[in-house]
Amino acid sequence: MSDSENRPTNFIRQIIDADLESGKHNHVQTRFPPEPNGYLHIGHAKSICLNFGIAQDYKGLCNLRFDDTNPEKEDIDYVNSIQADVNWLGFEWAGKVHYSSDYFDRLYGYAVELIEKGLAYVCFLNAEQTREYRGTLKAPGKNSPYRDTSAEENLALFEKMKAGGFQEGECSLRAKIDMSSSFMCMRDPVIYRVKFAHHHQTGDKWCIYPMYDFTHCISDAIEGITHSLCTLEFQDNRRLYDWVIENISIETEPRQYEFSRLNLEYTVMSKRKLHTLVEEKLVNGWDDPRMPTIAAFRRRGYTPGSIVEFAKRIGVTKMDNTVEMGVLEACIREDLNDNAPRAMAVLDPIKLVIENYDQDNVEQLSVKNHPSDESQGSRIVPFAKNLYIEAEDFREEANKKYKRLVLGKAVRLRGAYVVTATGCDKDADGNIITVYCTYDSKTLGKNPDDGTKPKGVIHWVAAEQALDAEIRLYDRLFTVANPAAAEDFHTVINPESLVVIEHAKVEPSLANAKPEQAFQFERQGYFCLDNKDSSTEHLIFNRTVGLRDTWSKING
Ligand code: ATP
Ligand code: MG
Repeated sequence: MSDSENRPTNFIRQIIDADLESGKHNHVQTRFPPEPNGYLHIGHAKSICLNFGIAQDYKGLCNLRFDDTNPEKEDIDYVNSIQADVNWLGFEWAGKVHYSSDYFDRLYGYAVELIEKGLAYVCFLNAEQTREYRGTLKAPGKNSPYRDTSAEENLALFEKMKAGGFQEGECSLRAKIDMSSSFMCMRDPVIYRVKFAHHHQTGDKWCIYPMYDFTHCISDAIEGITHSLCTLEFQDNRRLYDWVIENISIETEPRQYEFSRLNLEYTVMSKRKLHTLVEEKLVNGWDDPRMPTIAAFRRRGYTPGSIVEFAKRIGVTKMDNTVEMGVLEACIREDLNDNAPRAMAVLDPIKLVIENYDQDNVEQLSVKNHPSDESQGSRIVPFAKNLYIEAEDFREEANKKYKRLVLGKAVRLRGAYVVTATGCDKDADGNIITVYCTYDSKTLGKNPDDGTKPKGVIHWVAAEQALDAEIRLYDRLFTVANPAAAEDFHTVINPESLVVIEHAKVEPSLANAKPEQAFQFERQGYFCLDNKDSSTEHLIFNRTVGLRDTWSKING
């Protein structure tokens, strides 16, 4: 298949195709414009894949622009995390990082131009009056008494605003458009407000800050953006976007197109709610693997490729919908099934003692890293008299459906020998703590001579050689598919979203695991080494996803 056949198609790409064909544009320039007021989430990943993906496929460029007009809510930590996330997803922005604040001087100039043209005025209505004058969806608004102030006077007032001559909330600069427009955003929207706030880029230079609707379109025009892609809630604002561009002296004419946001089941995407989760310590920070942030997916073991593939599968439309978690999980499961080396880890260990195995012997078995991909090679796994197996993999008695170790019956130890259980010890509470067995020394890599083939295969680790590890089992953060609909989302948080196993036993090769490196723990699921808390002395693995989609079976 050629590269172009492999590309996704959607209504935005069709618009671009038509624009290139008609000669309206001869190149494509997009941008990704996050506000640095939180970490990026999987919804942003959709927008990143769309904007950077289009630039890649059309041999165009995509800018990274921080939309930083709300200094009080923004932080340099977010600026840094956002850049790291975009790079991690595999994308590169064109040239330097842009900031809307780079354009504060020019934005001020365009505001002055609107004032000079009689298209903007300084308004002294207070918040309550402004609301009252704005009218409602059913009733038109009323003109502000300050609407007809002369341009000269407005210029002086705006200059005074800039110089710090007014208090916050005392006045604002408004565009003079139409107080009876059926689009509320056209009823003389505020384009500048007074804010005595320190800015992470411009310091204390400004005490007036431009509003999003005024800033975004002009930033797009300055950067020569051809297609400005945003989510559907900005559909009405497109009138204002076009109005500003038409009424200022700027050459380029960017166009805004809207697509539907990504919503994902069992999680929340509102930044306000994500902030609450972090601030109230309901999770352990923005990159807690239960969060829907890109940093969290990364820490949990998702690969960039799986997220890009997810964005491709969900597509881009104008229809609002909520995507099942299973779609995202399928993407990472398919990736890891192909690419993650296998390893053995026992999460709930009991001892398995091989009675007829030499106490002093340790065999170094060579075990394949992947069942079908030879290129992944093999590793050495030590085998000895004392092993650990999962408590749930042994029963004194069981019916035929139980294909694991049963008293008097045989099972294969993965990559090693066939063993037959002979007895067990229990503690005072009746829990099995040690299982005894015999092994058949002729069964390494082949079936027993008597022609019997054990039905089950179980995983194991050598007791003395195994490493201790902490394992973090993550599940959905919420118990309901649509937590945003709950009156109070605290009531639908899943109390079992994190289960910590403190004393798991893992095979010694995992001492070499790198942060974020993924493994399939045989019969358990996909895990990766935690990128923050793990150390050589204290290994920590995070469960990325189970082997199968058990969730839909239980809850579906
Ligand atoms: P806020 O909740 O603070 O308004 P936001 O979610 O709109 O934030 P921004 O940082 O302004 O976040 O978003 C950057 C870009 O990502 C915007 O173009 C926005 O439309 C897009 N985006 C945000 N959320 C989603 C989502 N769930 N699906 C697709 N795109 C999204
Ligand atoms: Mg926004």
